[in-house]
Amino acid sequence: MSVLNADLHCHSNVSDGTLTPEALAARAQANGVELWALTDHDEIGGQHRARDAALALGLPYLSGTEISVTFAGITVHIVGLGFDIDDLAMREGLRRTRGGREERAREMADSLALVGIRGAFEGALKYVGNPELISRTHFARHLVATGVCADTSEVFRRFLTEGKPGYVPHRWAKLGDAVRWIVDAGGMAVIAHPGRYNFTSTEEYALFTEFIAHGGRGVEVVTGSHTTADFVKYAEMALEFDLYASRGSDFHSPSESHTDLGALPFLSGQLKPVWEGLAHRVHRPEASAGV
Ligand code: AMP
Ligand code: MN
Ligand code: MN
Ligand code: MN
Repeated sequence: MSVLNADLHCHSNVSDGTLTPEALAARAQANGVELWALTDHDEIGGQHRARDAALALGLPYLSGTEISVTFAGITVHIVGLGFDIDDLAMREGLRRTRGGREERAREMADSLALVGIRGAFEGALKYVGNPELISRTHFARHLVATGVCADTSEVFRRFLTEGKPGYVPHRWAKLGDAVRWIVDAGGMAVIAHPGRYNFTSTEEYALFTEFIAHGGRGVEVVTGSHTTADFVKYAEMALEFDLYASRGSDFHSPSESHTDLGALPFLSGQLKPVWEGLAHRVHRPEASAGV
């Protein structure tokens, strides 16, 4: 078993989480996390804050992001780890990826208005920490706060997923572009929570092979979005495709997320953990005096 408590997937209020990067760093450390990455959606604006807060607490840090990609008509998430935070091509690519979010959010609100839910754009905005990153999660929080639904998963089930009123299809980055931004900035690209996409096995095989052809090298095996059956399935896929394996809670909020930072099973010892391939990219706290 690879008994490092690494948590390499979570969100701050720089995207759709509710805690600041600093509060997440403190929570990760309090929960016993030994290597941490903040992976905000399509955004690296919180990276310096997260790294500085982690290092001040003595917590090793890897840079991170989670890029929205459209593959075979479906939204797939690609986590980037260990890239250069100041890389200009990466910044520009992510800025473009964020670009259509406001217009999409206005269309979502128009579509919700047709089923009698008015003012959802303004309502969602109240929960947004970063004006460039209005997401479905912010709409979900608004619909819970106004009593339309009991919790965020009910909102997604009834309103924010394909075929439901309030869902607006969107074109995100291309798989090859997202992988290239990460790799060219010195990082490793990782397929996020593959168990969530409902691909057929043929489509999933195409995702893995194209991802690898573009230079992708990792897959999330243990994540808060996977069932125990998924842990086994994607451990096997990691071995079959010779990919590094990652581990991350996908924590968003103390009141919404069922998996807290660091609260996950360890990776099986047969797997190559992503932190072995990224050892040279880890930001480490300064050794204390005399050690
Ligand atoms: P967006 O990038 O605006 O499409 O929003 C995607 C985000 O919505 C994801 O990162 C999750 O945080 C959240 N999300 C997606 N599906 C669900 C779900 N079924 N239940 C709760 N949150 C979800
Ligand atoms: Mn999210
Ligand atoms: Mn995701
Ligand atoms: Mn995520």
